[in-house]
Amino acid sequence: MNPPAPPGRLRDLTSLVGNTPLLSVDFEYDGKPRRLHAKAENFNLTGSIKDRMALHILARGYERGLLRPGAAIAEATSGNTGISLAAIGRALGHPVHIFMPDWMSQERKDLIHSLGARIRLVSREEGGFLACIRLSEEFSAATPGCFLPRQFSNEDNVDAHAETTGPEIWRQLQSLELQPGAFVAGVGTGGTIMGVGRYLRKARSAVRLHPLEPSNSPTLTTGYKVGKHRIQGISDEFIPDIVRLGELDGIVSVDDGDAILMARKLAAQLGLGVGISSGANFIGALMLQNKMGRDAVVVTVFPDDNKKYLSTDLMRDQPELPGFLSSRVELKGFSALRRSCRTCRPPSRRHVSPRR
Ligand code: PMP
Repeated sequence: MNPPAPPGRLRDLTSLVGNTPLLSVDFEYDGKPRRLHAKAENFNLTGSIKDRMALHILARGYERGLLRPGAAIAEATSGNTGISLAAIGRALGHPVHIFMPDWMSQERKDLIHSLGARIRLVSREEGGFLACIRLSEEFSAATPGCFLPRQFSNEDNVDAHAETTGPEIWRQLQSLELQPGAFVAGVGTGGTIMGVGRYLRKARSAVRLHPLEPSNSPTLTTGYKVGKHRIQGISDEFIPDIVRLGELDGIVSVDDGDAILMARKLAAQLGLGVGISSGANFIGALMLQNKMGRDAVVVTVFPDDNKKYLSTDLMRDQPELPGFLSSRVELKGFSALRRSCRTCRPPSRRHVSPRR
């Protein structure tokens, strides 16, 4: 049986990506009530925010005639992009080749494999992330018709968030009769912060846009990667081409231990089983709210859930170090908004509180 033409499949896939719920998380910080907002990106097809980018880049590739039916797709990735490209690429009938650092979680490697992609692991000695990019380019040059999404330099990555994540956040906040004061997101490729930022700034010029990175292994503040960290998916090894720090506000730095403790707390106290970068984003949003005032509307994303981190430190208790914010947070509950205003009926909001 011939596979259906990609446009039809693209339409079907579009129904499975984006339109994620906006969570409003209620908590006390030093005993005072607070609220932060986060998009639950684990609701995407493969469970991460990267589905948005993968689908958008492949769709644009078809439109421009750069991606042809059945052609190979090759990409360097620290994991979630590999999972997204494997699933969406295979759904569209493409062989997918992923080049990934070997220190990423076993779950990432197994998932990419299970989704029918070929995976080439690259060690630190071989050159780590930068070698992944080089190898993917070499593979593409040697493979006729091969399509390279090039997530770190492809403006379609930014557009994916300017056209979906950003407008969703704006409309969902409008349903709550709110406007964003600040948006913060950990930078992997930077697609999320640049794309959401572009949309929100057009809608409200005063909004503050903050990129986030691990304090114990920065890339953005130094220009090159220093040390190691445990927040998989962000702060790879260089400042990506699509990141224009001059268009953003200050860089927010979060300790990876604090990020892990916060993600563990969201899971254990509220049942929100999020990944490590979600914990980092929550702490980053809290830092901004501390500066801007406790009623400031600060928004972030929870890029994925905790299932890809079962073999990592996310499943282990961590020392609470002085200066960590997570220990001062008492989570109280959350409300979730799936759809937005205007085109929908007034949303019904349910409030979920943990049993005490
Ligand atoms: N968190 C996780 C878990 C990710 O996989 C990624 C993407 N690498 C990010 C955050 C950062 O997203 P972006 O690439 O849009 O900056």
